[in-house]
Amino acid sequence: MEKIKMTTPLVEMDGDEMTRILWKMIKDELLTPFIELNTEYYDLGLEHRNETDDKVTFESAEATKKYGVAVKCATITPNAARMTEYNLKEMWKSPNGTIRAILDGTVFRAPIVVKGIEPCVRNWKKPITLARHAYGDVYKATEMKVPGKGKAELVFTDENGNETRELIHEFDGPGILQGQHNLESSIESFARSCFEYALSTKQDLWFATKDTISKKYDHTFKDKFHDIFEAEYKEKFEQAGITYFYTLIDDAVARVMKSEGGYIWACKNYDGDVMSDMVSSAFGSLAMMTSVLVSPQGYYEYEAAHGTVQRHYYKHLNGEETSTNSVATIFAWSGALRKRGELDGNGELVTFADNLEKACISTIESGKMTKDLALITSIENPTVLNSEGFIKAIRENLEQLY
Ligand code: NAP
Ligand code: MG
Repeated sequence: MEKIKMTTPLVEMDGDEMTRILWKMIKDELLTPFIELNTEYYDLGLEHRNETDDKVTFESAEATKKYGVAVKCATITPNAARMTEYNLKEMWKSPNGTIRAILDGTVFRAPIVVKGIEPCVRNWKKPITLARHAYGDVYKATEMKVPGKGKAELVFTDENGNETRELIHEFDGPGILQGQHNLESSIESFARSCFEYALSTKQDLWFATKDTISKKYDHTFKDKFHDIFEAEYKEKFEQAGITYFYTLIDDAVARVMKSEGGYIWACKNYDGDVMSDMVSSAFGSLAMMTSVLVSPQGYYEYEAAHGTVQRHYYKHLNGEETSTNSVATIFAWSGALRKRGELDGNGELVTFADNLEKACISTIESGKMTKDLALITSIENPTVLNSEGFIKAIRENLEQLY
């Protein structure tokens, strides 16, 4: 077969440890034999971030703004142990945090659903994609312990020194206090990223807050989503045959449990923190979870939701066999290639992305899988493959589609 050509480069962000090993295997076995892979390569491996004083991370984010689509390998977020291990000049910030700040984006996490890895919730048939607002609320709150009797107030002082006050509570005895904030600009970016991603994936969008209790704070989230939807997205949603649905957070939780899935659930920061762990663990495995960062302008960065799988990497370095699941990393590539293909009108590339995903799914459904899945599958007598063997099995299935 003639290799598929790409007109626009994909921004490629390489990473660390076991996922860096998988990254190369995926390119060698599953991509370059089929595609004339056109990428602009950025090495976000910790050594190179350290050498470049982390400039490479900023450059890769800027390149994502230029070209629109990126694919990222998992990377180490340094801590004290990594400082010594890699002899770092500084405790560099999380690359994901840096990229998210530059793109002003929202992260969408979606499970990869296959037969044989059944979600705990029986009626969930399709993936539930979770979008978490990543700014403010309790994560940037100021707190105080109240020692005893006294009055607590919220005070806002404007640029001219004028004060607005609201009584919080007249304390009779000791207690606790917390001040939260958010920004209209951040809520608006969150809303636009959600609407963009719903359109891009043709899925309904759900959003929920506690606006009945929080009549100014949460209500602002509700209003912003409503206003942006009415002004910018209503017609586009109608054309795409999808809906925007707002409800109260407790009602949303009840409906999610009874639904069959197949929609995007947008959550405020705290709700998203809690609910994403619930949804992902109910779907089975972190190794089967993809993640995409979507900016309000419609730039996309695809990756796996898991980390660099450090424990497996040390086994690999010791010459021991590993059975690391590459599915989420492969789906990061297929997601990015599909989006690139859609933007460039490159049908062959879109079909390739579909086929690559089909090949992964049919491999697992035929009983060939890595150890993490073998432990939880309902398929009897699965064949456990090592990291490389699993990718080679996918290659065989992919070749049959060409
Ligand atoms: P991790 O890499 O997600 O792995 C945690 C454990 O989950 C593994 O030890 C393994 O369990 C299992 N696991 C995760 N992915 C797997 C896969 N693909 N196949 C099979 N098993 C898998 O998290 P971590 O070990 O806590 O973090 C390692 C490094 O990743 C850290 O330096 C952290 O900063 C970084 N990290 C990066 C990102 C990112 O770039 N997006 C996200 C999270 C963490 P068993 O060992 O029991 O087999
Ligand atoms: Mg959490």
